[in-house]
Amino acid sequence: MVRETVKVGSVMMGGNWPVSIQTMWKEPLPAFSGMSDPRLAEAAERIKHLQDIGCDILRFAIPDETSIESLGLLAGMTSMPLVADIHFDWRLALKCLDFPIAKIRINPGNIGARWKVEEVVRKAKDRDVPIRIGVNAGSLPEDLRSIEDTARACIIAAEREIAVLEELDFHTIVVSMKLNEPAEVLRANRDFASKFSYPLHLGVTEAGPLISGVVRNTAALVPLLQENIGATIRISLSDSMEAEVLAGREILACAGARNAGARIVSCPRCGRASFDTHAFLARWSERLYRIQKPITIAVMGCVVNGPGEAKNADIGITGAGDYVLIFRKDREPLKIKPAEADMAFSQALESIINE
Ligand code: SF4
Repeated sequence: MVRETVKVGSVMMGGNWPVSIQTMWKEPLPAFSGMSDPRLAEAAERIKHLQDIGCDILRFAIPDETSIESLGLLAGMTSMPLVADIHFDWRLALKCLDFPIAKIRINPGNIGARWKVEEVVRKAKDRDVPIRIGVNAGSLPEDLRSIEDTARACIIAAEREIAVLEELDFHTIVVSMKLNEPAEVLRANRDFASKFSYPLHLGVTEAGPLISGVVRNTAALVPLLQENIGATIRISLSDSMEAEVLAGREILACAGARNAGARIVSCPRCGRASFDTHAFLARWSERLYRIQKPITIAVMGCVVNGPGEAKNADIGITGAGDYVLIFRKDREPLKIKPAEADMAFSQALESIINE
């Protein structure tokens, strides 16, 4: 089946385009007093940081008119495609479309009367803004809640919403069906992908805090991505947006769907360690995740596995008794004192990035 392509700002979704990573802003947008409001610059800075670590698309909850104005200001300040997430009130969707937003997420079923949906769809079409239908197992339409097979209920809900948009001759559609059980997410999305060609936004809903969230999303998303199902992902975590983006990067890399930026190999540390890998990564992770070049970086605690891993990486650092070794491909390792490790690593890293 040929997969549809949908343009979301500067990001192409679907077809043979790379799978994009998105996250969602976690706080209410404040009412910015204007372009000179320092909170606006702060928000733009955070968006830039998300972009630097690999976020392609950013979504905002839009519960009121204040947040629309704020989103509009932000949209004019960033190249990141911003998405408005709207429930219930079609007037909010209409107003959002006056700003340079890249996509709206609405469910026609909770917008109400047909004429309201028509108004939103007409304006989205005029502005060339795609719509994501976001079906969530936790907020299914009343009449579908009694269906025991939740994956099937989600597909029925998605089919209904798609039918409304298609009747209005609107086809720039992205669909998500989010459930809590990885096996259900797999089933719903596989089934949907066998019937529809619209790009799928993948994710596990209410996946929990960092560890459970990453594990559940990995279990569901890696097999789907390996089957070429999924155009964009959002790893929902009860954690930071940055954690969601980094988890998304790792999941795409595990699935062989996309490998951008630095890949970190590091040992868990044990009683043999003569180099503190945890402390080193606490100091360096932020910098390493902003590297755009696809390089492997090994951070190892001792000579048991350290030299082996470090030699296979583009750059490696490992403890070696009273010394630290820094490896670069095809070069003799540099033997230095632990106190000089950060400086020497920094110089070696910059030289690889600029090669
Ligand atoms: S590399 Fe060394 S310090 Fe790290 S886990 Fe292996 S044995 Fe332990």
